[in-house]
Amino acid sequence: MVQLLREEIGMPRRRKGSDTWHFCTNCSQWPTSDYETGTGVSGEKCNECKSKQSNGGCKAG
Ligand SMILES: [Zn+2]
Repeated sequence: MVQLLREEIGMPRRRKGSDTWHFCTNCSQWPTSDYETGTGVSGEKCNECKSKQSNGGCKAG
């Protein structure tokens, strides 16, 4: 099991069928159903999550 994003963010989620990983629970697109959790082995980080993180406004999951 690869644990790529773990240190910085906790447990990311992405919507099934999407390549975008969310790692801020306060992201407007944070998936609450029909998602998978994981470690971002492939795919992209959500831009909104990244911007929250750089503002210090990210609530990690
Ligand atoms: Zn997001």
